[in-house]
Amino acid sequence: MAILERLPTRERLLRMGIQVDSGLCVICGREMEKRNHLFLGCVYAKHLWGSIRSLCSLSRNVGSWGQELDWALSHLKGKSLIVLILKLAWSCFVYSVWEERNFRLFRGKGRLLKWFRYALEEEILARWML
Ligand SMILES: [Zn+2]
Repeated sequence: MAILERLPTRERLLRMGIQVDSGLCVICGREMEKRNHLFLGCVYAKHLWGSIRSLCSLSRNVGSWGQELDWALSHLKGKSLIVLILKLAWSCFVYSVWEERNFRLFRGKGRLLKWFRYALEEEILARWML
């Protein structure tokens, strides 16, 4: 859904004529909530993905959504252990950012980045064990 830009972000809802209280990102409150902002334009997500990349010993700077997606499509091929871990990390990252967005939107509060990262690591481990 994220890759196809089908997630009901606030910007997309507004474009469809659906009234929302604000079009701003519920995570940082600084910019319009669009897919590209939510996933890697938002400082929160960018920091999280950077820390995941660090855990995987990837030193390249975190790019935009398009740059990271291009990187993933060109590098995450094959069945090596690091590729499997990175695919898992990428999908958990996208899921976790969307979950955090919904948590903040519907519960009115967010998790601290360190807990967000901890939850993401737990999600990766849980999926890894399946
Ligand atoms: Zn934001």
